[in-house]
Amino acid sequence: VVQWTPFIQTYKKHKYPWVQLAGHQGNFRAGYKQGTILKKLCPVEEKALEAISADILRPYVPRYTGVVEGTDGEKYLQLEDLLSNYTLPCVMDIKMGVRTYLEDELAKAREKPKLRKDMYEKMIQIDPKAPTDAEHRAKAVTKPRYMVWRETISSTATQGFRIEGVRRGDGTSSKDFKTTRTREQVLAALNSFLQGYSHAATRYVQQLKSIKATLETSTFFKTHELIGSSLLFVHNDTSALVRMIDFAKTIPLPENVHITHRSPWSEGTHEDGYLLGLENLIDLFSVIEKN
Ligand code: ATP
Ligand code: MG
Ligand code: MG
Repeated sequence: VVQWTPFIQTYKKHKYPWVQLAGHQGNFRAGYKQGTILKKLCPVEEKALEAISADILRPYVPRYTGVVEGTDGEKYLQLEDLLSNYTLPCVMDIKMGVRTYLEDELAKAREKPKLRKDMYEKMIQIDPKAPTDAEHRAKAVTKPRYMVWRETISSTATQGFRIEGVRRGDGTSSKDFKTTRTREQVLAALNSFLQGYSHAATRYVQQLKSIKATLETSTFFKTHELIGSSLLFVHNDTSALVRMIDFAKTIPLPENVHITHRSPWSEGTHEDGYLLGLENLIDLFSVIEKN
């Protein structure tokens, strides 16, 4: 069962069901301070948020106000709730990059090259022609093979982003974008998200362009690989905002490794495709804006 509203949030005496479009439902709770949420602590994300607090990217990331202990005794990151100033907003999570696993995760999967029947089954359910002849005979694929293939069924591998989830203005939600792959399919999904909110496309184009310009001069961005990070889009009848979230797999690049965030990835390059995805998104929102 998909849990969209793990808790009821209170802001300026007004209560609203909080919307969560990705991740485990137990990872989030209401914050102690007005307009904040708590996300279960991950040390990689904590480090990234600390570094961002001292970087020019800071205005484009939810305000981070440190580590707090939850009522369950666990540690949480306290973050600005991007939904605070909105009632029943439209929300969309777009996961950025040409891959969503770390090179280390791929290497680890390769250490134990066990044949996986479950992954073969998932593969043929989506594309019966995807497995090789040998994989068909074995009725199994290896995990690293599955990991690389999975990025090709959505827009991730080719366009540098994929839609993770959407909550529309009429309250309907969908996480059914695993095979939304072509430019036309993505455009249709974005159009449906913006349907009836023509002002939002313009605001999104402006803000995405600011984010891009800031990324291009950011020290943080220059020195990090951003994997599995998202852009969160929030709008209603009058406003629209987009912010960078989820830095649980945002890690410092090895010394002497420099990436373009744009060139195709091959193992060892550490390229993440973040700017490729961002440029494609700006392009798509511009098309919608002009229609
Ligand atoms: P995953 O790794 O599966 O993407 P996660 O546990 O790392 O999930 P996030 O991606 O950070 O979690 O967030 C999950 C969802 O929670 C987002 O899609 C969004 O709907 C909501 N969310 C996260 N951070 C905020 C925020 N600061 N304000 C409002 N909503 C947020
Ligand atoms: Mg996420
Ligand atoms: Mg995450």
